[in-house]
Amino acid sequence: MKRMSKKKKKLLAVRISLLVVFLGVFCLLIFYCRKLSEKMDAEQARKPAGPLVCVDAGHGGADTGALGEGGRYEKDDNLKLAKAVKEELEKRNIRVVMTREDDTKVSLQGRCDIANDAGAVLFVSLHRNSASAAAAKGVEIWTANKGRGARMAGYILDGLREAGIQEDRGVQEGTSSSDKSDYYINKHTTMPSCLAEMGFITNEEDNRLFDENLDRYAAAIAEGVDQMLQEMAAEDAAKDAV
Ligand SMILES: [Zn+2]
Repeated sequence: MKRMSKKKKKLLAVRISLLVVFLGVFCLLIFYCRKLSEKMDAEQARKPAGPLVCVDAGHGGADTGALGEGGRYEKDDNLKLAKAVKEELEKRNIRVVMTREDDTKVSLQGRCDIANDAGAVLFVSLHRNSASAAAAKGVEIWTANKGRGARMAGYILDGLREAGIQEDRGVQEGTSSSDKSDYYINKHTTMPSCLAEMGFITNEEDNRLFDENLDRYAAAIAEGVDQMLQEMAAEDAAKDAV
């Protein structure tokens, strides 16, 4: 066998050393990547899931809600807006539970149960108003008390005014027929809630605004909810710190 020249031996040694170094670096890299991914997984597991909000599309199925010109049903408008609000909330990392996602009838208690059982921290019910007088117009939001539900309603209405409504009919307590009682969902949900009457389905201009501004209305509602959630988190953190 021909003996290797000194030069060739040296070259081989260099190659082997390089290979060892390369393998070493490669193993180290894999080791660190695995450690990093384990750390990220642990951080992800520690991170609490975003807050849960219940979006309630009023009426549904045989319960059509109010009726507008040309066979326009309130239940359809409510669902369309509810779906857009869900999307906007999810964009803000807020989890959403819906009381219905299609044209089905859900009882009032069933709606409250969905929100209560899921542990939602806020509840927003979406409706359209109606009146025998076609001139009746504007948006109003109903709450059960002056607490967080009413504050959320105020923020939502601020955003809706900016988005463009015919008339701001204000945040109101009770129901349209009595200030001694509250709307069922405001009374029987265990979290702050409000019921938004998104313009009159019996008013042509309110309907035009509803159709044209649907996305802007959805964003305004999500923004109001988000603002309330942030305030609640800050208030709860301050309470915990005491
Ligand atoms: Zn309604």
